[in-house]
Amino acid sequence: MERLLIKNIRYLYCMDEEDTFLENADIYIEGNVIKKIGTKLDVPADGVKVIDGTGKLALPGFINTHHHFYQNITRNIPIMQKGNLLGWLLYSYGAWENMEEEDVKAAARLATAELLMTGCTTSMDFMYFFPHGKHDLMDAEFEAVKELGLRFHGFRGCMPVMEGNLPAEMKERLGIDAGSLVESYDDILDSCDRTFQKYHDDSRFSMSRVGVGPTTVVFENPEFMKELKKMADNRGGLCHTHLHPRPDEIKKCGELYNCRPHQWLEEIGWIDKNVSFAHISRHNAEELDIVARNGASVTQSPSCHMRLGYPIAPA
Ligand SMILES: [Zn+2]
Repeated sequence: MERLLIKNIRYLYCMDEEDTFLENADIYIEGNVIKKIGTKLDVPADGVKVIDGTGKLALPGFINTHHHFYQNITRNIPIMQKGNLLGWLLYSYGAWENMEEEDVKAAARLATAELLMTGCTTSMDFMYFFPHGKHDLMDAEFEAVKELGLRFHGFRGCMPVMEGNLPAEMKERLGIDAGSLVESYDDILDSCDRTFQKYHDDSRFSMSRVGVGPTTVVFENPEFMKELKKMADNRGGLCHTHLHPRPDEIKKCGELYNCRPHQWLEEIGWIDKNVSFAHISRHNAEELDIVARNGASVTQSPSCHMRLGYPIAPA
């Protein structure tokens, strides 16, 4: 097991309950666990790698709660940088449909390196795009992250139905058949189950955990939503989805169930402490209350919201 001593750190902020703050402090690490902090720590010197912390500041590793690693490979294409959510998605899906394992791996390596170099030691990733029957693309991501040593919550997301009016627009503007970019419900459940079996370690200090969830709420198929949730619960994993309902989603939910998305999710058991929702920029007070009283979590992504012109999340 690798042992590491970071010595003589100028300022160490622990951000714990007691708000511990130490000067000229040491941190002793075994494997992936911080064993001791303090000043002038006495640890056996043999085989310890020492890093000099003189003049440095140390903080706990940051945790990133929402990411799409694979999108890194297209973020510098000018057309991707303009337009609203659905316009951006239209061209993005057109580019991402050609994605292969090596692209996913390169994107994950880049994302992981960027995260680690900016102080983030734990990240989730929400990978939901598996075009043309490439159901196991996420394997490449788990491999890349393991190589670089990030603590990882890999969410094997899915897209059984494409957002809004995109299928028709894709056909018309790009000549792409949206049907080849979405997955069947059965394929998704099979692949999620495989991903849990291969990569989910729910022990303490685990470096690899798995979660599941659709990119947008699948109002069309409550049984599928419940199956995903049941699988995550049985495996000790988490669930996640984008929940900042667009007008067309609110309309669809209203027509099908005569209620709003949050109420429906609560009804089908999809809001609890093992669920987190991305964005929350369009939640009203009652919806925030539904999330809060069920103990679910929310994530917000200010830079994404600025890019897309969303309201500021009432967080
Ligand atoms: Zn997202």
